[in-house]
Amino acid sequence: MRLSSAFVPTLKEVPSDAVIPSHILMLRSGMIRMVGAGIYSFLPLGYKVIQIISEIIREEMNAIGGQEFHLPALNPRELWEATNRVEAFGDTMFHIKNRDYVLAPTHEEIMTFHAKGVVKSYKDMPQIWYQIQTKFRNEARPRGGVIRGRQFLMKDAYSFDTTWENLDAAYDLHDKAYRNIFDRCGLKYFVVGASSGAMGGSKSEEFMVRSDAGEDTVAHCESCGYAANIEVAQSVTSRAERKSESKDIYNISTPNVKSIDELCEFLKINERETAKSRVYIHNGAPVLILMSGNDEVNETKLGAILSGNIRPAHPEELKEITGADAGSIGPIGLKGRIIADNRIKSANNLYSGANKNDFHIGGIDFDRDVKNIEYFDLRIIQSGENCARCVATIDVFKAIELGHIFKLGTKYAEGLGANFVDENGEEHPIIMGSYGIGVDRVMACYIEQNFDERGIIWKKPLAPFDIHLIGLNMKKESIVETCNDLYLELQENGYSVILDDRTDASAGFKFNDADLLGMPIQIVVGEKNLNQGKIEIKLRSTNEKQIVELNHLFEKLKELK
Ligand code: ATP
Ligand code: MG
Repeated sequence: MRLSSAFVPTLKEVPSDAVIPSHILMLRSGMIRMVGAGIYSFLPLGYKVIQIISEIIREEMNAIGGQEFHLPALNPRELWEATNRVEAFGDTMFHIKNRDYVLAPTHEEIMTFHAKGVVKSYKDMPQIWYQIQTKFRNEARPRGGVIRGRQFLMKDAYSFDTTWENLDAAYDLHDKAYRNIFDRCGLKYFVVGASSGAMGGSKSEEFMVRSDAGEDTVAHCESCGYAANIEVAQSVTSRAERKSESKDIYNISTPNVKSIDELCEFLKINERETAKSRVYIHNGAPVLILMSGNDEVNETKLGAILSGNIRPAHPEELKEITGADAGSIGPIGLKGRIIADNRIKSANNLYSGANKNDFHIGGIDFDRDVKNIEYFDLRIIQSGENCARCVATIDVFKAIELGHIFKLGTKYAEGLGANFVDENGEEHPIIMGSYGIGVDRVMACYIEQNFDERGIIWKKPLAPFDIHLIGLNMKKESIVETCNDLYLELQENGYSVILDDRTDASAGFKFNDADLLGMPIQIVVGEKNLNQGKIEIKLRSTNEKQIVELNHLFEKLKELK
C-alpha cells in the first residue's frame, strides 16, 4: 500500500466523541469512521485487520471441523416467533417496517431452520456450522466505538449432536479453538464460567478481557484463575467473631441517625458491629435482609436464593411492615422471614434499627434474639477479599466480553421442530450448542491492550502490514528509487509493506503517522544514511533504533522475526 494514493485519513487531534484508547486510535489512524450512533464503516486499513482476525478464526474453526456458511441478515419474523425470541429480544431487535422481517441479532433460528428435516438421522451428526457475518442489535447505549455497536461482525458457530456427551465434546472443541484464536491474536484474556447446575445443556463460559471500557464487573484471582461475574462471585470473607459474652438487649435514642456511617459516628463504634436492614417483597410477603455494616445486598444472589418475584419494598410498605422508615429498621420484634449474610452468622453484641424512628437497639445476639434466622452468601464481593478457591486475593475490575460458548440443549430444536431419529428409530430434538466471537471487539480489545501515547502497537499476527517503509524526502531521486526497490523486494520476500511515499509531508509528520499506525517495524530511508549505503530500522514496540547496511537488511529482518 502506497500512502500517497491510499485512503488512510489519519487525524492529529483526538476526536471529541471518543473516550477510550481503542476508539480514539481507530479513528485517528483512519481505520474506522462513524456513520451514526453505533454504526461504523471500516476503512481499508481497518478492514485489513478485520480480515486478518477473520482468517485466524476461520483456520481454527475449520481445524475443529467447522463448515462455513453465509446466512441472510434479513429474517422472516415468524422463525423468531416460533422460539419466542421476538419477545425475548424486545427492543434490542430491529424490525423492518414494510415486511414481516427482522434484522438478525444472532442466528440460532436460521441454522436450526437449515438443520430441520435435513439433519434427520443420528448418522448425520455431529455437525459444526459457522459464519462470520454482520449482526444487528438495537443497543440502548452504543459506546466505545465498535466495542458496542448496533451493527457488528460476529463469528457465530452452532453444533448439532445426538447426545449430551457429544455436546460436551463439541463444547470442548470450541473452548480449545477459542483459546487458540485469542492466543494467536495476542490477547490477554481470562475465562468466566457460569453453570446454572441444571442437568445438561446449560453450561456457558465467557472469554473476557480486562478493560475500563467494559460494562461487566468481574472478580478475578490471578493466582488460580478463578473468575466470575460480580453478580455471582462467591464471597468468603471472614466472619465477624462472636464475642465471649453477650450483652443484654437495650434501646438507644438516636435522633436523626439514619445511615450506618451516622450510627457509627454517633455511638463511636465500628461498622462491623452493626447490622444493616433491607426489606424486600418476595411473592407478596416481606423478607428482612441483614448485612454487615455498609455491605451491599447482591440482588442476583438473593434472586437465586428466593426464586420467584422479588423487589425492594417501597417506603410506604416499609412503614406498614416495620413501623419505621428506612434507617431505623431491624430484626428485633419483626415478624416474617429473616435472612442474614454469612459475614454476620451467629454474631452478638450488634447494633441495628429498633423499628421505631430515631431509635436503635444494642446488644443483639442473633442466636439468642432472632429466631429462625437463615444465613447465605449475599455480599457483593470486593477487591482484596480472599479467593473462594485458593489463598490469594481477589481483584474486582471492569471487563469486556470477547466471546461466549454456550450449551443450548434442545430449546431451538424444540421450538422449530428439528428432530432426528436415533439407532432405535426413536425421534428426539437435536442437541445444540452456540458459540460467538465479536470480531470488531477482538480488534478494539487488542488495541486497548497494545498502545502508547504515540499510537497503536501492532504485533506481527494482527498487524495490517509487517513493515512501514518511510521515504523521508521523496523529491530526491535516490530516495525514491531506493524506496521503490525496497517496496518490491520486501514484498517478494514475503513481507507486507506500507510505503510512505508522500512528497508533501514533513519527516516529523511521517514519523508521527508511522507511530500512530503502529506497524511492528519501521524502515526509514533518509538522505544522510543512504549516502553511506545505510538505512534506519525502528521497532515500534520498544522504540529501539539501529542503522543497518542496506546490503544486510534482509539478514537483520530475519533476526527480528
Ligand atoms: P454483551 O454482554 O457485551 O452485550 P452478549 O452477551 O450480548 O454481549 P452474545 O450474544 O454472546 O453477546 O454475542 C457474542 C459476541 O458478540 C460477544 O461475546 C461479543 O464479543 C459480541 N457482541 C455482542 N454484542 C455486541 C455489540 N453490540 N457490539 C459489538 N460486539 C458485540
Ligand atoms: Mg448484549
